[in-house]
Amino acid sequence: MGGNHTKIAGGGISETSRNEYRMDANGTITNYGEKGVQQNGRQGVRNGSFETIPVDARCVVEFRPTKDWKGEFGFDWPRKADSQMAVDVNYNGIIGKYGNVYATESNAVFTPRNDLHIRHLKEYEFFNSYKGRYSVPNMSLCVGTTAILDAITEVAEIPDSMRYDYDTETFELVILKRLTKSVGKNFDKSAVSIKCLKAFPTNKNIRVFATKNGKEQRVGQIKLFPNSVLKNANVVFIPVRYNNVQGSIKGNEVDITRFALQQSYVQASLSVGPAIRAEGWWFNKFFTTRDSTGRVLMDDSRWASLHRYLDGKFFETAANASYRNHYRVYMLPDGTLNGVAEGIGNTKVVVVFQGRNDSTSPHELLHAMGVHHTFDNNGLYTYKYRNTDNIMDYTHQLGEQRFSTNRWQWNIIRSAI
Ligand SMILES: [Zn+2]
Repeated sequence: MGGNHTKIAGGGISETSRNEYRMDANGTITNYGEKGVQQNGRQGVRNGSFETIPVDARCVVEFRPTKDWKGEFGFDWPRKADSQMAVDVNYNGIIGKYGNVYATESNAVFTPRNDLHIRHLKEYEFFNSYKGRYSVPNMSLCVGTTAILDAITEVAEIPDSMRYDYDTETFELVILKRLTKSVGKNFDKSAVSIKCLKAFPTNKNIRVFATKNGKEQRVGQIKLFPNSVLKNANVVFIPVRYNNVQGSIKGNEVDITRFALQQSYVQASLSVGPAIRAEGWWFNKFFTTRDSTGRVLMDDSRWASLHRYLDGKFFETAANASYRNHYRVYMLPDGTLNGVAEGIGNTKVVVVFQGRNDSTSPHELLHAMGVHHTFDNNGLYTYKYRNTDNIMDYTHQLGEQRFSTNRWQWNIIRSAI
C-alpha cells in the first residue's frame, strides 16, 4: 500500500494513489452525490467496455467437519447443506423469528427473515473469491486437540498448484488427501488433520493459496480463535436416590459435556459427587404423583422448587460445602422430562431425569450459563426448530445427535464462567 493515502478530514474523504486506483465489485458500483458527481481526467474521461475482473485462480476450497465430528473442537460456519453430516440445513431460510406461539407447539409459525440472515453472516469474516463472498468458518481448537476436516473444492479453471499456509510452530497439518483440482465440485473426505501444538494469544488463520500463471491467490480459509486463556468450570453430577433407585450417568454425557464447553475454551472438570436421598413425607407430598395404575412417580411439574429442595438437601451435609462453586447436576432416577435448568443464566443448578439422552446435561448446563434455545425468540439469533445439531436445539427428538455450538454462543458461555 506504499504511496496510497486515505485521508478523512473536516468531514470529507480524500484518497490518493500514486499509481492506479481500481474498484472491482461483483455487484453494482454506485456513486451518489447530493450536489452532483464529477469526474476529471487529465487525458479525458472514458467509459470502457465491460471486462471480466481477472481472477487468477478460479477455484475455491471450503472446509467442513466430517460426519464423525462430535464437537471435540468448535466449528461454526454459515451452513449450506454441503457437508456429509447427519444434520446440515442451509442457514439461508432457517434464520428468522417465531410468532407468539412457542416454537415447540404444533401451531407455531416460523418466518425466515433475510435481514437476520444477513446479520448472522456478519459473524464470519469474508473475502471475495471467484464464486463471490467466501465466509470464513470460526474454529476453536485446544492445545493437543486434532481436528479432521473434509474439503470441498469448486474449480472453474484448474490451478497450477495449491498449498496450505499456516503457522507451523502452532499447528501441525497432515494432508490426508490432496485437494482435488478437477473442474467442477469435488468432495475430499478427510482431506486434512489439524493439530494444535501450542497455545496462541491472537487469532490465527489457516489459508489455502492457489497459483495460476505464476500468481498466487487466496482460495480458502479457516479462522482460529485464541486459546491461550482457558476458563475453568467445575461440574459435579450428583446421583439422587429415590424409592431405592438411584440416578446415574448416561451414555457419553460426560464427554459431550466436556466437548460442549471445550468449544468455548472452557475446560470442564467433571466429577460424580456424593449421592443424596430424596425421601420423606415432605418430598412425597410435593414432588411425587401417581400414574393411572397407582404407581408413584416423580412429579416434575414443580421443578422450580425441586431445584431448591435438592440443593438444600445436598448442602445439609457439611462436607459438600466444597461444591458451592460447582455447577450441580442432580440426576433423578425417574421423571417424565429430560431435564430442567433452574433458569437461563445466573444459576448453577440443573436437574436431569433418567430418561434423558447424552446431550441433556450439557443442554441444561448451557441454559444455566445463559444460553437460550436456538429456536427461542429471546436468543441473539433464532433458528427454525429442529433444523440444527446445536446442543440448544431439540433435534434429538428426531433421533439425531446434538453436539455443536456457534461462535456467538461461545461468547455467552465464556462470560458466564
Ligand atoms: Zn432447554
